[in-house]
Amino acid sequence: MSKTIFEKVISREIKADIVYEDNWCIAFHDINPQAPVHVLLVTKKVIPKLSEASEEDAELLGHLMLKVADVTHKLNIKDNFRVVINNGPMACQTVYHLHIHILSGRMFHWPPG
Ligand code: 5GP
Repeated sequence: MSKTIFEKVISREIKADIVYEDNWCIAFHDINPQAPVHVLLVTKKVIPKLSEASEEDAELLGHLMLKVADVTHKLNIKDNFRVVINNGPMACQTVYHLHIHILSGRMFHWPPG
């Protein structure tokens, strides 16, 4: 299996502007930001999409949610942000390695496009 682009960020084969890292996840600025702040919080374990996560990933998924809070605190956006997980082609997922988009710094609308 070839590495995902995010595995290459994790292994430092590809440069990224990293804002947080621990044993389970890494957060870095998106290369094509859709808001003034656009950070990706990525699992180190390669789960291709959220719908493929299993019971054994429960602790990892909980950890990820808590790290959203930490990262938004660190970036001074804790009061206003949106998190997005695209799952599958109809949701416009392009990188099949589980990640949470953290977006902030502009007005968002609902329903999303
Ligand atoms: P998806 O479409 O799968 O939900 O999100 C993938 C995200 O990864 C996109 O927002 C895209 O801009 C970002 N991305 C793709 N390649 C790279 C890269 O090499 N570096 C960084 N920092 N972001 C990337």
